[in-house]
Amino acid sequence: MRPQVLIIGCGFGGLEAARALRAADVDITVIDRTNHHLFQPLLYQVATAGLSAPSIAAPTRHLFRAQRNVTTLLGEVVAIDAQSRTVTLKDGALLRWDHLIVAAGATHSYFGRDEWAPHAPGLKTLDDAFEIRRRVLMAFEMAEREDDPARRAALLQFVVVGGGPTGVELAGTFAEIARHTLPGEFRRIDPRQARVLLVEGNARVLQAMPERLSERAREQLTALGVEVKLNARVTGIDAEGLDLTTAAGPERLLSRCIVWAAGVAASPLGRALADATGCTLDRAGRVVVEPDLSLAGHPNIQVIGDLASAQSHAPGKEPRPVPGVSPGAKQMGRCAAANILKRLRGQPTTPFRYSDYGNLATIGRHSAVVDLGTPAGPLRFSGYLAWLFWLFAHVYFLIGFRNRFVVLMDWAWAYWTHDRHARVIAQK
Ligand SMILES: Cc1cc2nc3c(=O)[nH]c(=O)nc-3n(C[C@H](O)[C@H](O)[C@H](O)COP(=O)(O)OP(=O)(O)OC[C@H]3O[C@@H](n4cnc5c(N)ncnc54)[C@H](O)[C@@H]3O)c2cc1C
Repeated sequence: MRPQVLIIGCGFGGLEAARALRAADVDITVIDRTNHHLFQPLLYQVATAGLSAPSIAAPTRHLFRAQRNVTTLLGEVVAIDAQSRTVTLKDGALLRWDHLIVAAGATHSYFGRDEWAPHAPGLKTLDDAFEIRRRVLMAFEMAEREDDPARRAALLQFVVVGGGPTGVELAGTFAEIARHTLPGEFRRIDPRQARVLLVEGNARVLQAMPERLSERAREQLTALGVEVKLNARVTGIDAEGLDLTTAAGPERLLSRCIVWAAGVAASPLGRALADATGCTLDRAGRVVVEPDLSLAGHPNIQVIGDLASAQSHAPGKEPRPVPGVSPGAKQMGRCAAANILKRLRGQPTTPFRYSDYGNLATIGRHSAVVDLGTPAGPLRFSGYLAWLFWLFAHVYFLIGFRNRFVVLMDWAWAYWTHDRHARVIAQK
């Protein structure tokens, strides 16, 4: 029997690890609870009706059709046994492994206030995106039928919590939908009257960016019509709206469409691994890994991507934490695959080293901010050029020629017409 490699999760990390083993003399099983690989950086476009789901997701089975050493399975892993080298699926089935790569990603964190979740969905999966899209479009539909001015105003108030890249992208696009896409289509309301608020607990949006770019992003959002509330802490969320505390005191915002883009927590599989191996979890529930991405005392288990609390080990430099972004997950996937091959050959493994190419965020159809690391030093720019850079970078990294072509066509159409074509919502 060839060595059995089991990869849990076919996101950025899992897909890259399996591909890196394409020529290896091993049998690989990739198991995911969904049947698709999802390009999360463009998920907000599905949530805001700009793209349809198949443009940013590809069936996992199709991706591996030509890689004969991969078997693709649909199923959710709920437990891991390091002694018997098996995982248990939700339906009770067992899978055996010799080498395990856990790449199950992250989920939303409501900072212990899970009761907020039904009133403020987060954006992580296609189902989340469909739900947010439904709530945004339904708010306009209900406002068109509402006679009471106060209730209509509440329906036309959209709140995004969290000023990271996803919050900024969502808020900017909501404002564009209200100001450019929908006007002319309603008879009793003016969609331009909609109020879009972005609520951020810290003093600036896009914390990971240099201060100057954060300020540019805030200005660009304001120009689009988004009200940015900084230093504003959410203290409650219910079916009618949310409560905030700001320097000016407590405030109540009525809204039927609140989106949560504020917190990330590791997949619950981190806890399952800790129970199975005694490994350490950090405050976000991520698994603390060894320099080569394995678990202390369990060299045959590696954890990668958003689930890993990993450090980059560049020669001659202090180790530094790896951010939870797709290049980090992909690079870890390649490192984990290479280390499996080294173990099989009896060679020493390599510590993980992260290459940081920078950060991008878009704020509507003409503006973005870009912070790139180049050998000559950081390259930072914003505005239209940054937006073009963002656009082509995202199309380039999409999987599949068809998706790249379709996304470019959809964006070109939306650019000239302001239309957002994916506005069909199914009744629940
Ligand atoms: C809305 C959004 C926008 C983002 N934008 C950017 C961006 O612009 N640039 C950037 O670099 N990064 C961005 N990120 C972050 C980036 O997507 C993540 O860092 C990256 O996806 C992490 O890869 P991963 O392989 O660890 O996890 P994921 O890509 O999340 O994949 C995890 C996989 O595991 C599967 N899974 C989970 N639990 C189980 C289980 N128990 N059993 C079986 N399967 C399971 C999931 O279905 C999923 O397919 C964004 C993330 C989000 C949510």
